[in-house]
Amino acid sequence: MGCLNMRVSILYDNTAREDRFTPGWGFSCLVEAYGRNILFDTGADAGILAGNMKIMGVDPRTIDFIFLSHDHWDHTGGLSALTEKTDARVYVPESFAGVLTAVTRIRKPMKLAEHVHSTGELKNAEQSLVVCLDDKVVVVAGCAHPGVRGILTAASAFGNVTALIGGLHGFDDFDLLNGLKTICPTHCTRHIDEIAAIYPEKYIPGGVGATISF
Ligand SMILES: [Zn+2]
Ligand SMILES: [Zn+2]
Repeated sequence: MGCLNMRVSILYDNTAREDRFTPGWGFSCLVEAYGRNILFDTGADAGILAGNMKIMGVDPRTIDFIFLSHDHWDHTGGLSALTEKTDARVYVPESFAGVLTAVTRIRKPMKLAEHVHSTGELKNAEQSLVVCLDDKVVVVAGCAHPGVRGILTAASAFGNVTALIGGLHGFDDFDLLNGLKTICPTHCTRHIDEIAAIYPEKYIPGGVGATISF
């Protein structure tokens, strides 16, 4: 396996890195890995998502998969910006309550593509996305409702987890992040400042427009 690159671009977040982007409570990012474009969550508002995607040069027609971490409105509300423009396969956790048709419901850990996995639905609530690179395992979480510990444990089935990106909610068991090399706590993460202070060399700020390359 060659040295394949991966890039995560934040399209929807509570904050924005530049004025030209529109922030809003919610989360969405584009995960590019192994030649696939995976849209992770869709934010709350279709108009805001579409606008930010356009500025970032993300064409909805190029999306291969839509991965919805859980069914909260701030992660699913933007879906309508995409459904007419893409026939991307949609993956949701088993408990997902929406009325979407033509989705794949995920309960157990599942391979979505080579080196790309779902942790499976954890605590009947949420799934996280796992991408395995040569020497890294990158995890993207929506709100981390099942808890960061459970997510990292589930993801470690795929290899040594080195990066965590996304919403971590009220997570405050900061020692758990000790083994990671890259941490981008954003969206609903309540203790961003503490995480940044404890792990300044690992911390990457989120916000719409942020891109993280591996
Ligand atoms: Zn949530
Ligand atoms: Zn959320």
